[in-house]
Amino acid sequence: MNPADVPGLPDGVADRLRDEGIEELYPPQAEAVEKGVTTGENVVAAVPTASGKTLVAELAMLSSVQRGGKALYIVPLRALASEKKREFERWGALGVDVGVSTGNYESSGEWLASRDVIVATSEKVDSLVRNDAPWVDQLTCVVADEVHLVDDRNRGPTLEVTLAKLRRINPGLQVVALSATVGNADEIADWLDAALVDSDWRPIDLRTGVHYGNAITFADGSQREVPAEGKRQTPALVADTLDEGGSTLVFVNSRRNAEAAARRLSGVTEKRLTGDERAALRELADEIESVSDTETSTDLARVVRKGAAFHHAGLAAEHRTLIEDAFRDRLVKCVCATPTLAAGVNTPSRRVIVRDWQRYDGSYGGMKPLDVLEVHQMMGRAGRPGLDPYGEAVLLASDYDTRDELFERYVWADPEPVRSKLAAEPAMRTHLLATVASGFAHTRSGLLQFLDRTLYATQTDDSDRLEQVTDTVLDYLAANDFLTRERDDEGDVRLKATDLGHTVSRLYLDPMSAAEIVDGLAWADEHEAEMRRKLAGDAGVSADGPARTSTGVSAADGDANTEFQPASDLVAADGDARPGDDHADDHGTENGEADESERTYPTPLGLYHLVCRTPDMYQLYLKSGDRETYTEECYEREAELLGRTPSEYADSDFEAWLSALKTARLLEDWANEVDEDRITERYGVGPGDVRGKVETAEWLLGAAERIAGDRGFDAVAVREAKKRVEYGVREELLDLAGVRNVGRKRARRLYEAGIETRADLRAADKGRVLGALRGRRKTAETILENVGRQDPSMADVSPDESGDGSVSESTTGSSGSSQRRRDDGDGSDQASLGDFG
Ligand code: ADP
Repeated sequence: MNPADVPGLPDGVADRLRDEGIEELYPPQAEAVEKGVTTGENVVAAVPTASGKTLVAELAMLSSVQRGGKALYIVPLRALASEKKREFERWGALGVDVGVSTGNYESSGEWLASRDVIVATSEKVDSLVRNDAPWVDQLTCVVADEVHLVDDRNRGPTLEVTLAKLRRINPGLQVVALSATVGNADEIADWLDAALVDSDWRPIDLRTGVHYGNAITFADGSQREVPAEGKRQTPALVADTLDEGGSTLVFVNSRRNAEAAARRLSGVTEKRLTGDERAALRELADEIESVSDTETSTDLARVVRKGAAFHHAGLAAEHRTLIEDAFRDRLVKCVCATPTLAAGVNTPSRRVIVRDWQRYDGSYGGMKPLDVLEVHQMMGRAGRPGLDPYGEAVLLASDYDTRDELFERYVWADPEPVRSKLAAEPAMRTHLLATVASGFAHTRSGLLQFLDRTLYATQTDDSDRLEQVTDTVLDYLAANDFLTRERDDEGDVRLKATDLGHTVSRLYLDPMSAAEIVDGLAWADEHEAEMRRKLAGDAGVSADGPARTSTGVSAADGDANTEFQPASDLVAADGDARPGDDHADDHGTENGEADESERTYPTPLGLYHLVCRTPDMYQLYLKSGDRETYTEECYEREAELLGRTPSEYADSDFEAWLSALKTARLLEDWANEVDEDRITERYGVGPGDVRGKVETAEWLLGAAERIAGDRGFDAVAVREAKKRVEYGVREELLDLAGVRNVGRKRARRLYEAGIETRADLRAADKGRVLGALRGRRKTAETILENVGRQDPSMADVSPDESGDGSVSESTTGSSGSSQRRRDDGDGSDQASLGDFG
């Protein structure tokens, strides 16, 4: 079918597609059109990866907009939202406006009302519905990308409930669901009252097989000789692909393995680069290094110089994009990835190697084989239409029996059916409260009726189960004051969300998180006097002697804000000199006059620990040795923690308490201006993880601040802890770091040059500002403009480097450390993690 023959599209779409090289619709696309995807019909398209699902969605959305409507595209990952937006933005030429909704949860995104196409994650859409976004009832078309993820234990229920709500709000809503090929696409179509396009068609042949010994055996029985000595199968396969001018994607089961494999394979790619490629890769590596000054960044740049790369969720988003683009441009020859890359990012390659088909799973108690669906998604990345003659996807076997097993288990197997995970209690807790709070149901029977529109209800024969879980969850919600129940005359139970319930639903919290926060804040309120005394006492008898009391001087890691001895010193003591973390030396005395009575309570650490123990925060794992470290630290700082420490013998409770403490310590380090690379190293995480934790903490502390206000607890300490984590700075930099483009490192340098507040910045000598900003004129001008300075121009200004010197007069011992920082390199790159926000 020619795009020009597709009914319902705005003028110009077919021309535009032709310019992009799309002359004919792929067969599954044509089938979707025949089934009415451009005339408002519900369609489920279950087709293999890279078979043009996105175009099906675009045709549906464009035709909907053409009829005067508004379309919503739901993506499974935040990283995909901006990618899809970029892709759809080309329709701006035809007058179709695209907006992407990210940002914090509790907002209604009113500005999106003017957009024709909106891109958002299911969580974001769920929260927009809860916050009555004014445009939700104007939607005429919704596309659910990767709808098979309703099977995901964590995120599936949100997608499922959100679709049910949207359909309830807009009875005429067109639903288009895109899915990988799954065993039961018909059930999904049934649930959504949709026509089904179920196809195995691919634009390029995919040959799947298993490598063992000296050859790949393909599903059709043919073989390709690729000799590999011993365990060196992956390098042999990568070399073999490269020798034919192709690139390779290697899937492994952990970040560490991705990095290690990239290191090893860079030896293979390096030997096969041309001079031009080497030069281009050097440039790319420099760009990667400029994204952030972490070890991950350096490691990535190192392998990229040799033509290989790794890709996992621990990378910064900028890193991911650079790698994906370079791989698509065939500059990077081999990418070693965790399965995140298989989920949606368009990075085809000639050959895919699924090296690890098992992954550690704690709840399974060991290594668990991956789902067939997941392996098929990875394999589907093989073959670039128009560039490769075919794609090849290979599993690796080290013995004959495994080879047979892999054929049975994956190559010949059908993907598992998708099953709703809605009836699990954690999911129900959140969604039942939200359903009541946002008025979708007012009674128990109304709630059950609403649930009847979910996939779960379509799939189950056991409606009792849903009723049982509903009742258990309603008990929990009532017991924790999130809703009230009242029996009415007809024997039904009327449900009403309390103020707390409404707040929690709008803030997008798991009710269990909210209950934990309420308890912690109440505990702090009740024990305040006692804990303040304790903290003052602790400070007086700190291990390093009384000299460290009440001055904020804590040599290794002092928090100018909490004057007692930080137990973090214990961590620092084990050989940890923290070169990048030496601010403490020079601002202890600034707060020296702080009176003990002014000390904040709860402390930031106490609040970080509180939000880290909620189910909305993924806690860091305890690695070997951590249990001892954090047990010690836990007792050391017990007075700061908002609640009773569980008994050491209550194993899992105590362990969770310590994991929360470890996570809280990461946040505390961040808020104490510890360098990003020190943090990643100390906690064994990637920069992307630090960002994730910080963002989650910001959101949860914002929620805690609101709850504190509503419940009459003191919200000031919470707000400050939140601000500190948001900017990653100590208290005295909060004012400066809030100026756009300043960020934590520049704020510190300005401060050291004697520019301590926004008012200072507006009035300061320009030479001094420029000096503090390392002579970067453009940056200095932008910052002055952002702070509202009348004449921000830096023309003819020369940097005054004496700023640091003058600071050393007012702060003890700063000259040495500021000198060290100066040598640290500029660090002023605002794209770096240190300055996001
Ligand atoms: P999926 O979403 O199914 O994984 P995509 O929508 O990303 O796949 O499509 C993969 C590639 O195929 C894209 O680069 C897209 O531009 C291209 N494509 C889609 N439809 C056609 C078509 N009819 N003709 C040629 N190329 C197409």
